[in-house]
Amino acid sequence: MTKTSFADAGVQYPPRTGAEPCTDRTEDYFPDSGSSVTQTALACLDCPIVADCLAWALHHEEYGVWGASTAAQRTELRKRYGITLIWRLT
Ligand code: SF4
Repeated sequence: MTKTSFADAGVQYPPRTGAEPCTDRTEDYFPDSGSSVTQTALACLDCPIVADCLAWALHHEEYGVWGASTAAQRTELRKRYGITLIWRLT
């Protein structure tokens, strides 16, 4: 396992193992606006790549559940740690 730095904009999406809870459940990870995402985010806690997925998503994903975080939670983490979405830097 690699050591993840959440502030590293160059973080790469981790190799998938096939054991990720989101496999074949994409629709649960991009719920309709207003839907509860708590259960989906909790399922990520069983994921073997959760930390690296979160680090990547902080820099790349505005929507959906990634790395046990909701879109709103990542927005707060970006503010707290001064992280800007990659596509907004260009
Ligand atoms: S941590 Fe990432 S890869 Fe793992 S289940 Fe959650 S969204 Fe999928």
